[in-house]
Order: sequence, then C-alpha cells, then structure tokens
Amino acid sequence: MITAEIVDKWMKLFYSKISEQKAYLSELDTPIGDGDHGNNMMRGMQGVEDSLDKLSNPDLKTILKTVAMALISKVGGAAGPLYGTAFLEMAKNCEKTQAPAELFKLALEGIKKRGGATTGDKTMIDVWAPAVAALETDSLSVEKIEAAAAGTKDLVAKKGRASYLGERSVGHLDPGAVSSQYLFESFIEAGG
Ligand code: ADP
Ligand code: MG
Ligand code: MG
Repeated sequence: MITAEIVDKWMKLFYSKISEQKAYLSELDTPIGDGDHGNNMMRGMQGVEDSLDKLSNPDLKTILKTVAMALISKVGGAAGPLYGTAFLEMAKNCEKTQAPAELFKLALEGIKKRGGATTGDKTMIDVWAPAVAALETDSLSVEKIEAAAAGTKDLVAKKGRASYLGERSVGHLDPGAVSSQYLFESFIEAGG
C-alpha cells in the first residue's frame, strides 16, 4: 500500500540518487540526445524537495499532486511532462486504490498516452512496463529493474530525440530508462 509517508521517503531517496548520478545521466543523454537529462532531473527533484518542504502533514493525494506539479514545471525537456503525468495519474486515482500495481499501471498508461510511445521504443516505458508487470505478480526486485534498464541498450529508439539517430541509437542505454531505474529502486528502498 502506498502511503504519504512512503512517498515522502521515496522522493528523498530518489533525489539523492539523482544528485549522485546527475553527471552520469547527462553523459548517457550525450550520444543519443542533448546531454541534459541529469541536469533536468536534478532541477526537477530540487523543485520537488522545495515544494514538499512547504507542506505539513500532507495526505497522499496532496503529496502526489505536489510532486507532479514540481516535475512538470521544473524538469523541462521531454521527461518532465512524462514523469509529471505519471504522478498526476497516481494523485487522481489514489483515493480509489493505494495498491502499487494499480497506481503504477495507471501512471504507465498516462505516460504512454502523453508521449505516444510503447514498449520497445527505447524510452522510460521499457522500465515502467516490466516494473508494472512485476508489481502485478508481487515480484518487483532491484535485479528486474536493472535488467530492464540494461535492456534498452540493444533497442532502436522510436520516440524522443534518440529516434533521430535511428539504428545508430543501438549500443547506448536510454537515459530516461536509467532515471526510471533509480525511481523504482528508490520505491523499493522506501518500503513501497
Ligand atoms: P529532452 O530529450 O527533451 O532533452 P530529457 O533528456 O530530460 O528530455 O529526457 C529524455 C528521456 O525522455 C528519454 O531518454 C526517454 O526515456 C524519455 N522520452 C522521450 N520521449 C519520450 C516519449 N515520447 N515517451 C516516453 N518517454 C520519452
Ligand atoms: Mg535531453
Ligand atoms: Mg533537452
């Protein structure tokens, strides 16, 4: 069950992973993008921390919506509205269900709808989709998430900036898949 306390812990852990891996994420975005993914995510998570600091005892819906709004307004780039949409979908539905499998599934549907990408297009979806599938069988693990992110290396990009490279995108990890790996690892560590 996802609670406000878990989301708070989750975001702190995610922020610290993004801080540690900022340069690496931007490095991954250099050969197949514009080299800003780490900086984008860092700016976004600073925004999340600042916004969450201003809340006192927020309920689950408020905290999820606050995360969504900070990501949408601060990340910039393609990833901002996509991560933002994911959290907004969770916020919209968290009164009906607090089950991670259901909330992450709705979030994934939001990402797909917003960006028009699907599994195999070498995007963050290639981590989100296997993560949702694992949550549905109660078998989400760090190993599965890492394998999913690593798997983007062999894919041809079909969406986002990397798609401009076509076949030449093969051999590179997708930066958004790697930041999503950190998001799910943080979720596991937060006890979600
Ligand atoms: P930008 O490409 O605008 O500079 P970022 O570098 O912050 O934005 O984010 C790039 C990441 O966003 C990609 O690695 C990919 O995972 C994700 N992405 C881009 N376009 C899409 C899309 N249409 N659907 C899903 N994810 C996408
Ligand atoms: Mg970029
Ligand atoms: Mg950019």
